[in-house]
Amino acid sequence: MKLLFIGPQGSGKGTQAAIISKELGISHISTGNLFRNAKDELKQELDEYMEQGKLVPDELTLKILKQRLYQADSKNGFILDGFPRNLNQANLLKSITEIDKVIEITVSDLESIKRLSGRVSCEKCNESYNIFTEPKPKNPLYCDLCGGKLIRRGDDNEQAIKKRLEIYHNETEPILKEYQDILIKINGEQNIDKITEDITTKLKHL
Ligand code: AMP
Repeated sequence: MKLLFIGPQGSGKGTQAAIISKELGISHISTGNLFRNAKDELKQELDEYMEQGKLVPDELTLKILKQRLYQADSKNGFILDGFPRNLNQANLLKSITEIDKVIEITVSDLESIKRLSGRVSCEKCNESYNIFTEPKPKNPLYCDLCGGKLIRRGDDNEQAIKKRLEIYHNETEPILKEYQDILIKINGEQNIDKITEDITTKLKHL
């Protein structure tokens, strides 16, 4: 099964992609995570784009994605989370592989901004929380699981959030019509378990 998860920032697509990929035994590939985990000069180059909320250039994005896509664990299938983000990337993807289903997770801009401004993650184990909505940490400063410090992402600042949403509406949303025959639309303004249930049910019935 080859799936795309598309949705605005803070829609919970990363959380859902992690859960569903485990359930289906396929790999979860998030271009955002690949970029955040890059090293040395490449990391510096990528951070410059990310911190301003801009897209990393398509060529560089595709080069990094391809290296990950061709690893053995993607043989049974994968969920791409955060790719493609514009029409050019959608066309490049089409030239490498076919996609079975596209999951679009919708949330309003207001909800997205609220979620991103409360989003924190553990600097040690990467567990994510939200200080305004569930899953809330018991202590807003430290991780429930390992006691590590909770930090905000560099690009979850007001200016970058605005820019990222603008890019989502102008460049990413229009590509959904390319996938209209295989598109599954999910309401992202529900609790995490209900969203997972909706995705699983719809994947089974289509
Ligand atoms: P995300 O974790 O999906 O919110 O991505 C964080 C940042 O990584 C984005 O704001 C972009 O700067 C960059 N990024 C992630 N995926 C892509 C992509 N497919 N194309 C270009 N830039 C990307």
